[in-house]
Amino acid sequence: MGEDRRDFLRKAGLAALVAAGGATIFRFEDVAEAMSGEAPKKIRRAMVVDLTKCVEKDECTACIQACHRAHNVPSVADPRHEVKWIWEEPFPNVFPNEEAPHVAEALTSRPALVFCNHCDNPPCARVCPTEATWKRADGIVMMDWHRCIGCRYCMAACPYGSRSFNWEDPRPSIKELNRDFPTRTKGVVEKCTFCDELVDKGQQPACVAACKDKAMTFGDLNDPDSEVRKLLRGRFAIRRRPGLGTGPEIYYLV
Ligand code: SF4
Repeated sequence: MGEDRRDFLRKAGLAALVAAGGATIFRFEDVAEAMSGEAPKKIRRAMVVDLTKCVEKDECTACIQACHRAHNVPSVADPRHEVKWIWEEPFPNVFPNEEAPHVAEALTSRPALVFCNHCDNPPCARVCPTEATWKRADGIVMMDWHRCIGCRYCMAACPYGSRSFNWEDPRPSIKELNRDFPTRTKGVVEKCTFCDELVDKGQQPACVAACKDKAMTFGDLNDPDSEVRKLLRGRFAIRRRPGLGTGPEIYYLV
């Protein structure tokens, strides 16, 4: 592309953002993208969970502990007020429409790991009145706890129950405070953000790094040479209720 054309596109992109400024809040990455004049990178972050490896380590909760420790997720005693970023649910609840008669009983009788699916078409982001939740260009569905007004529309819109609400001040219920990650307050919704704070530094999500058996693989779905694509090429995978049209980007190997 010629320099003039690149410059024109850069300015046009910036002008479009400025024109839209009355109706929306600028995000740093949008402005940076328009200013750079580079075509946006076509990254699509996704996770592959190998349930057969989880079955082999039945009692293992290393990923859950690592995530909750890294993100100051409180251990609230009252189950009605529980806050979870990654947890386990019975297989039939996770995959209610998955008849999968060929899936081994060892898998279907064991709980499956669940977390935010970082949907391609996230209903939670569409209903948020303050843009406290949104999808990044690389597919990560983000949360800004400072913008959250606690209306819980996102929780009603998410068909997977992937979001938690802080019914009480979470800080007294944090077991081991990580001073490098913000705590939340009463009246705020939270959820998994694919460890954007680590991914942006070129690191793996905390859950992936904590799994010694490599049951979780994180990567770029748009890169045919990525580990996630290699796994999906070679194994049968299912997703949570894909018929809803949300485009969940967590793939479960069965
Ligand atoms: Fe939103 Fe729920 Fe999809 Fe996560 S799983 S992106 S919270 S709709």
